[in-house]
Amino acid sequence: MKNLRRYRGLQVDFGLHYRYFSVSANVRAQSPNAEPEDLVHEGTSDTTHVSGLHKLLQLFARTRAPIEGKACHAKIIHVGLQADTLTSNMLINMYSKCGLVDCARAVFDEMAERSLVSWNTMIGSLAQNGEEQEALCLFVEMQRKGTPSSEFTLSSVLCACAAKCAVFECKQLHAFAIKAAMDSNVFVGTALLDVYAKCSMIKDASFVFECMPERSDVTWSSMMAGYVQNDLHEEALVLFHRTQMSGLEYNQFTISSTICACAGLAALIEGKQVHGVLCKAGFESNIYVVSSLIDMYAKCGCIREAYIVFQGVDERSIVLWNAMIAGFARHAHSMEAMILFEKMQQMDISPNEVTYIAVLNACSHMGLVEKGHKYFHLMMREHKVSPNVFHYSCMVDIFGRAGLLREAYNMIEKMPFDVTASMWGSLLSSCRIHRNLDLAEVAAKHLFEMEPNNAGNHVLLSNIYAVNKKWEEVALARKLLKESYVKKERGKSWIEIKDKVHSFMVGERNHPQIAEIYSKLDDLIAKLEKMDYKAETEHDLHFVEESRKQQLLRHHSEKLALIFGLMCLPQNVPIRIMKNLRICGDCHSFMKLTSNITEREIIVRDTNRFHHFKDGYCSCGDFW
Ligand code: ZN
Ligand code: ZN
Repeated sequence: MKNLRRYRGLQVDFGLHYRYFSVSANVRAQSPNAEPEDLVHEGTSDTTHVSGLHKLLQLFARTRAPIEGKACHAKIIHVGLQADTLTSNMLINMYSKCGLVDCARAVFDEMAERSLVSWNTMIGSLAQNGEEQEALCLFVEMQRKGTPSSEFTLSSVLCACAAKCAVFECKQLHAFAIKAAMDSNVFVGTALLDVYAKCSMIKDASFVFECMPERSDVTWSSMMAGYVQNDLHEEALVLFHRTQMSGLEYNQFTISSTICACAGLAALIEGKQVHGVLCKAGFESNIYVVSSLIDMYAKCGCIREAYIVFQGVDERSIVLWNAMIAGFARHAHSMEAMILFEKMQQMDISPNEVTYIAVLNACSHMGLVEKGHKYFHLMMREHKVSPNVFHYSCMVDIFGRAGLLREAYNMIEKMPFDVTASMWGSLLSSCRIHRNLDLAEVAAKHLFEMEPNNAGNHVLLSNIYAVNKKWEEVALARKLLKESYVKKERGKSWIEIKDKVHSFMVGERNHPQIAEIYSKLDDLIAKLEKMDYKAETEHDLHFVEESRKQQLLRHHSEKLALIFGLMCLPQNVPIRIMKNLRICGDCHSFMKLTSNITEREIIVRDTNRFHHFKDGYCSCGDFW
């Protein structure tokens, strides 16, 4: 799934993007070594003058005032306090809060006597200011000097490992924690599972979690965030139910991870229940919670509900605007996305790079070449946002979809970054729609090199040969695919009926009502065939003969999910289906016709976008 997801162009998960940072902050915030108040207890001097200076240092740390802090430092040297350990600790803390790690380090290096607190503050400071490697080195130095470390040292160093995804170091620290009997400490355990989760070692993370004798709310929310980051949405929801049963208090991170999990599963009913829970718990104006709520409704196909949530917030931060604009873009409501984009600027909120990704995405989905081009330049000229690889990716998409394949190719060529596989993938898809064989071969050649195991690329290329009636090349491409041992991911679709998510594989056998589903499907196909529906077998690339291929195509998972939806849901309820791959051309036609003869609204979310089928038409305008 990961590979296929990559090649279809671009999708930025706005929901998770900021959550990653917020959870790191969350884990850090739990370690008290960073708080100046904790440094006060080891006082060495008690004159009012000294304590006045200390109070000032704390104030400047809290208010992030480096200039005033430096003046205070000068005063400290002037009165001859620089050798005092407590004062030095506070200086290190102040400098680190103000982001001046070098100054903090200079104070640390000059200290004649270091207590444990000095080391902790310095290591924490390095870890929080992006100097993870330095933090690790300092920890090693501390060990060599024989200074005993505390739980807080260990959790700071682990935070550094998480940011660098340093798996090897993390394992060593894990062993160290066990040896020092610190592994049962709640801070250490939480930091450990956080590192494992961020390094995609989710099994190790949940092992640490299950072994912990004591867990804080941060532990629970870190574990849930870990599941969500690793696409294990069902596991995240199970954990949420466990927190509910254990009567634990929710925090903003547990709630927003849960909403993210619902979004990942397109579990709307569950999502609405969590919406109820969060209102009761008083989180409806929390920006993290609200932006994941907007994202969830948008991803579940309820763009109207997303907008209602957005409108309900008085103070909208950029994160909320971005989530809403991205939601509109995903639903091909480009007009709304652009209106919101203008509106946010009227309210004096400057768009950032994430906003521009969403806006360019909106242009791409609607084939708005000129607008896209305009925004791309506006971004650099007026908002001084320099385009990153995602913006270029959007432009390649915009040109490609509009059939300006040369322009798309030139964009790739002149880009100041390494070309990503997703760009070649986007170009290849555009070549399929606009039947450009030459560029398709160029793009495919790059893709085969970059992603030798992605079957999707072979499939696309051979489809392009097929529509151009190059049968020899089709045969060759299929032969290559067969020989290259690449595995095609099996199609799978989900539909939520009465707060239970039902999943269907292509050619499903195990669902309890499958016999009835197949017979109803046959009836529907017979009806559609009278309306000139013909199975488009070129969309199926299994290595089987035509008749078997027709049968496989009939049983694509989204068709089965649709029939089940028709069976179970009342007439006025839209049928919402989620699919793990891009919807094929045949299923797309099938959905359009079905929406017409059954007079139902059908919403399919595939890996690329949403398709709203109504009265025989799709919102994507057959452009996906
Ligand atoms: Zn299909
Ligand atoms: Zn569509």
